Amino acid sequence: MSRTVYVNGAYLPEEEATVSIFDRGFLMADGVYEVTSVLDGKLVDFQGHAIRLERSLKELDMAQPMSTEELLAVHRELVSRNDIVEGMIYLQVTRGNPGDRDFAYPPADTPPTVVMFTQNKPGLADSPVAKTGIKVISVEDLRWGRRDIKTVQLLYPSMAKMAAKAAKVDDAWLVEDGKVTEGTSNNTYIVKGGTIITRELSHDILHGITRAAVLRFAAEAQMQVEERAFTIEEAQAADEAFFTSASAFVMPVVEVDGAQIGSGAPGPVATRLREIYLEESLKAAI
Ligand code: PMP
Repeated sequence: MSRTVYVNGAYLPEEEATVSIFDRGFLMADGVYEVTSVLDGKLVDFQGHAIRLERSLKELDMAQPMSTEELLAVHRELVSRNDIVEGMIYLQVTRGNPGDRDFAYPPADTPPTVVMFTQNKPGLADSPVAKTGIKVISVEDLRWGRRDIKTVQLLYPSMAKMAAKAAKVDDAWLVEDGKVTEGTSNNTYIVKGGTIITRELSHDILHGITRAAVLRFAAEAQMQVEERAFTIEEAQAADEAFFTSASAFVMPVVEVDGAQIGSGAPGPVATRLREIYLEESLKAAI
């Protein structure tokens, strides 16, 4: 069945939704995005995503297309019109359509392009993959230097994902100067001697909304957390590994570059954090 999507103020069947060929998002990857999960028909950590969107736009000198309240109303309308119980809402804001191609930004009063659509994912929370864990390979991180801005420049992460597929594993961990930055679309963690280790926030990684929540829950559960970069060798020698993202929550990682992590099954820390995250997120969802 066709989805109802949102484009610049209109709710349309997906077949009728269009964007100009001159759109800066299309020509220059000049746009930012957010993905918010839906559980039980409600939005998970909407406020966190709205705040990060605001920050991404500000870093690129783009205006806020609408207020947080209006954004929330569109998200809820899409959930309702598409009967989403479990899934995601994708939101993209670009610098709009200047009517031609030019490297310089168009005048500031050029209307942005705002697109939102749903992705229906029944069974998202009860993912069978989370019970077995996933496998990753490492690849060099060749992305640009402002990964804290959530731009739609996703070609390199797509290439890394294809390298993972070619190696018959699930994802790739990106490595820069010998240390893991993050996954293709997630933040990465290892657990050693009971301590959770994850890279500190900087321009090198996306400031994950799920990362922030999980670190808060870990602290509340009296777990030790160390925010620092780690190597692939450390990951291979760790007791556990996992990643976090808004759409996969907490996902155990059981193999890195062919080496089994711990017992080769999801570890107790990742398993517990996934449970807490889902429980608390459902409670707080709006
Ligand atoms: N890093 C990258 C590169 C990502 O694309 C994502 C997912 N958007 C994340 C981390 C995780 O962020 P979040 O928890 O906000 O989904």
